[in-house]
Amino acid sequence: MSYDPKSLKAEDFINHEEILETLEYAEKNKHNRELIEEILEKARKTKRGVECAGLSHRDASVLLACDIPELTEKMYDLAREIKEAFYGNRIVMFAPLYLSNYCVNKCVYCPYHYQNKEIPRKKLTQEEVKNEVIALQDMGHKRLAIESGEDPVNNPIEYILECINTIYSIKHKNGAIRRVNVNIAATTVENYKKLHDAGIGTYILFQETYHKESYEKLHPAGPKHNYDYHTEAMDRAMEGGIDDVGLGVLFGLEMYRYEFAGLLMHAEHLEAVHGVGPHTISVPRIKRASDIDPSVFDNGISDDIFAKIIACIRIAVPYTGMIISTRESEECRAKVMGLGISQISGGSRTSVGGYAGYSPEERPHDTEQFDVSDQRSLDEVVRWLMEKGYIPSFCTACYREGRTGDRFMALCKVGQIQNCCHPNALMTLQEFLTDYASEETKRIGEELIAREILNVPDEKRRQRAIDYLSEIKNEGKRDFRF
Ligand code: SAM
Repeated sequence: MSYDPKSLKAEDFINHEEILETLEYAEKNKHNRELIEEILEKARKTKRGVECAGLSHRDASVLLACDIPELTEKMYDLAREIKEAFYGNRIVMFAPLYLSNYCVNKCVYCPYHYQNKEIPRKKLTQEEVKNEVIALQDMGHKRLAIESGEDPVNNPIEYILECINTIYSIKHKNGAIRRVNVNIAATTVENYKKLHDAGIGTYILFQETYHKESYEKLHPAGPKHNYDYHTEAMDRAMEGGIDDVGLGVLFGLEMYRYEFAGLLMHAEHLEAVHGVGPHTISVPRIKRASDIDPSVFDNGISDDIFAKIIACIRIAVPYTGMIISTRESEECRAKVMGLGISQISGGSRTSVGGYAGYSPEERPHDTEQFDVSDQRSLDEVVRWLMEKGYIPSFCTACYREGRTGDRFMALCKVGQIQNCCHPNALMTLQEFLTDYASEETKRIGEELIAREILNVPDEKRRQRAIDYLSEIKNEGKRDFRF
């Protein structure tokens, strides 16, 4: 086996020896100021405009290993600069929707493992899916990530497809779920085709760990035990027609530098084989859950290392969205947001049936997947973002206009984001303010929109967006997009 990003075999494109050599190279050069400055320069935006070269897993690993405070500050500045160039101050909002916690796997970090008798097993009926979706629409959500355990009998692909269909069909008041992302276990090309035909947004699958030996120990039984099948899933998803795939590592399971190199190698592999890198990267950390004690895993990372990982990912893959969930506290989310995060969840419940019938203060814990640190309502998160100078966005336009995969990347590269994403973010925020926000959130939001709409560079586009905003507010119209 030798390292080959173009190979379709997991052990070639996530090559263990290559990762070890990368870590050795990074360790050897972590105080090499000249090299580090050179790497940062390479990753910077070109003078002419908007393109960023990104970095190889080797170069990025040197940055991550470097512990010279003044250079770390430079990394943070560059990460902020890149984030600003491609994502501006927009943060896309979403919520998870747990469909079923039936699972035949034995993942040692996840409370859904089949031997856990502490949690009641539950699977939503279509009526319950409908109620959950109405509750989510009433909060103001437009984008969901559906989550499910792996169980071919209780949650077969037909069940997942039926749920997606139900979710898209519900139009309650002015609400609509316009994009359903899917986080379910690795599956076959035929099933990915079915998910694609059902109109999903991103297919998300966390690798958990790229370290094969650890992976096999952490997944001792069930179909998820098969490292190669799991690691090669994104290639099958793309073969099935899904353009947007989302990677992620569960930080805390293995050494973070190993995971970081593996994650970037996976991104390089997708780019080399399919001509397009991952649409998103998620950075979950292990949390306490029913029968799971996170301190048992001895690779937990501090908030500082976590921030550095996020900054280095932003520098290495400038066009890839980065997601942070409510696993993280308000304080931590505030710290890392500017370093490259482009999507966050808000008002999340990680239990099966956690939304409908509960007040914002009540949260059911019995079927919860893990403790949620940020327990604020969506309205509170939206207001907090705006007070920090961000634009919460409920936009789903790219995917609905067919701007997925490399077509989305192309939009980034030609610098059209500010004429497209910026007004779309403001128009969807206006919908949220008009339909769902509290008075205070509405006041802050409308001031923000009035200021930010002036930052659409193209005059005609700006004027059209101003007209659309007025139609949303005054004429009850919805769903404008560029
Ligand atoms: N069952 C699917 C699979 O096997 O990929 C995915 C759905 S699972 C609900 C989503 C993710 O939650 C997992 O991929 C894992 O990374 C994460 N997770 C599991 N246990 C966790 C814990 N204790 N704390 C934080 N995240 C956890």
